[in-house]
Amino acid sequence: MELKALKLTPKRLQICQKLNLNSGEEILRYYPFRYENFQVTPFESWKAGDNVVFSGEVATFPTKYRARRSLTITSFVMFYGEEELRVTIYNRPWMNLQVGQQLSVVGKYDGSHKVTASNCAGKPIEEFAGIHPVYPLKEGITQNDIRKLIQTVFAKEKCEDHFPPRLLSAHGLIAYREALNGIHFPQNTMQLRQALARLKYEEFLNFYLALKLREKDLSGIRAAKDFSSEEVEKFIQQLPFELTADQRTACDEILGDMHKNVTMSRLVQGDVGSGKTVVAVVALYANHLSGYQGALMAPTEILAKQHYESLKELFSGKDITIACLTSSEENQKEIKRALKNGEIDILVGTHSLFSEDVEYEKLGLVIADEQHRFGVEQRRKLKEKGKDCDLLLMSATPIPRTLAASLYGDLHVSTIESMPPGRKGCVTTLIKKNSLKTIEGELKKILAEGRQVYIIASMIEKSENFKAKDAESLYQALVKVFAPFRTGLLHGRMSAEDKEAVMNAFARNEIQVLVSTTVVEVGVNVKNATAMVVYDADRFGLSQLHQLRGRIQRSSYQGHFYLLTDSKEESTLKRLKVLVDTNDGFKVAVEDLKERGPGDLLGTRQAGLPSFVLGNLITDTKMIEAARRDAEELLSSRDPAEKAYVKKIADLSQQLAVE
Ligand code: ADP
Ligand code: MG
Repeated sequence: MELKALKLTPKRLQICQKLNLNSGEEILRYYPFRYENFQVTPFESWKAGDNVVFSGEVATFPTKYRARRSLTITSFVMFYGEEELRVTIYNRPWMNLQVGQQLSVVGKYDGSHKVTASNCAGKPIEEFAGIHPVYPLKEGITQNDIRKLIQTVFAKEKCEDHFPPRLLSAHGLIAYREALNGIHFPQNTMQLRQALARLKYEEFLNFYLALKLREKDLSGIRAAKDFSSEEVEKFIQQLPFELTADQRTACDEILGDMHKNVTMSRLVQGDVGSGKTVVAVVALYANHLSGYQGALMAPTEILAKQHYESLKELFSGKDITIACLTSSEENQKEIKRALKNGEIDILVGTHSLFSEDVEYEKLGLVIADEQHRFGVEQRRKLKEKGKDCDLLLMSATPIPRTLAASLYGDLHVSTIESMPPGRKGCVTTLIKKNSLKTIEGELKKILAEGRQVYIIASMIEKSENFKAKDAESLYQALVKVFAPFRTGLLHGRMSAEDKEAVMNAFARNEIQVLVSTTVVEVGVNVKNATAMVVYDADRFGLSQLHQLRGRIQRSSYQGHFYLLTDSKEESTLKRLKVLVDTNDGFKVAVEDLKERGPGDLLGTRQAGLPSFVLGNLITDTKMIEAARRDAEELLSSRDPAEKAYVKKIADLSQQLAVE
């Protein structure tokens, strides 16, 4: 149902807007991210720290006092069976209790007969006990708001089931409405488990359907590429460094693909700093020798410029014309003309490389660097530019090989695991305060030794809604802290020229401290920068932090990575600790996958593929395999209902991709 038809109150509509929920269906698919299980237990079994729920008689008149402007504390004694318990609850100044009244309480047992209540009311205990969903919140919205909203919508929606009945019965899955009921209002763990099974399975199935539907037009027939292997070998030998074994293997696999008479679809994945660029360069060279143009697409203009510079250097002395398509108008006109005439051999740029009016004379190879940053649709469009083009994707978000194969299906995967020799690696430190006071000395020492430092903020400017530090204020403050060293500011809202000027100044060591947002996350290569401080580290994903860390391990100097956070949440600190404990991108990715959907990680979410909200790639492997097989079967099914389902998913992913 559309939001309008649901006739929600203005307050609820506002909640929907904040959570970006645009229909009844979307509201019902706003799933809890965890559950609290409250069961009534006898006092004797309580241990300090337990979540408890009980019902008893109020024994004393409550005392109330105001600790701070925004904190009032109410405290009273209750009888629970034979025991007297002191109950404390925050911010309920209006609560009116009578001695002798029956009260139900949910809270945490603090030990020594003390309970901190999260809720209490004169309602029957049954309303408190049981499994309670916990939803992801935004500021100004409470759990109760969301629970009530979902209750209202669930009563109004029909929740028709379009899922192929054959698959439901084959896997013993429950119907859609039943599953929604189970996930939002579970009566017991059995019901919850069944609901999860059904909804997860559907996510995986839809994911594979959408993936396979898109893959269909990926590989084509072309003549085997005609280049001299000796010539390529000579080129490899005169590179400024010797390839690592994994780089060598990746190159051989790519050259092998090019010698076949079907187009290449290959993913090169390797941790940040493992040296993927040079592999792309070898591919571009072989492609050039075969008489084709090549295109190298980067997710940001900064990175495109950097690639352009490295290509010029690595191809110097060769008769290869390289150009970089930027946002400047003049540059574009000239390049488009030259490209069409075949005067340009290799073109580097952002996704503007596949704008309507960019025409190639004879495009043979398309490379998308940091591919997870691009949408599937963007990649496909670029490929369409050159019919029967080879496609090479590069990703610094390493995922385990088996997962890659099962996710990408027909895409071939080369993995670079070994790092180039001579890297010192990186020491990661977690600082439980959102301030660099305690490491100021260390940072100054690193600067005094001639190295450079990144300071990362999660936001550009101050915001009413978040307490996080912003790049602009940090810049103002740090200019003074680090003087006489020079501090610069870089963020995504600056003009392309300004960004380039700052980046260049940093690359030339005219600026020693760079305060930046995550625009430096991707691929930026300033070898002399060896330390990075991340403010509000809890606001970043693990893989994203690992990417950032990659910026400071590009040389033989020791890297220093500092994570700052004010968070006291145990789970958050544990999450960040993963980075302290390992510098291995694969391990970080696995940890990240455990808590987030791979949709986020692989960039398929923004690309319009259905992503996993509930499903987990690490623990649900059996289900994934079954869903993958079923998806393949469905695609060739003649059953009208099953065909209709496939069409529905195809339309849906198409529609999402266009947005
Ligand atoms: P990424 O995989 O993150 O894209 P890059 O291709 O940018 O990594 O390489 C990181 C750095 O390592 C670059 O400065 C590059 O010149 C250097 N490098 C790459 N391969 C080797 C190698 N085999 N030996 C020494 N240095 C290398
Ligand atoms: Mg790179």
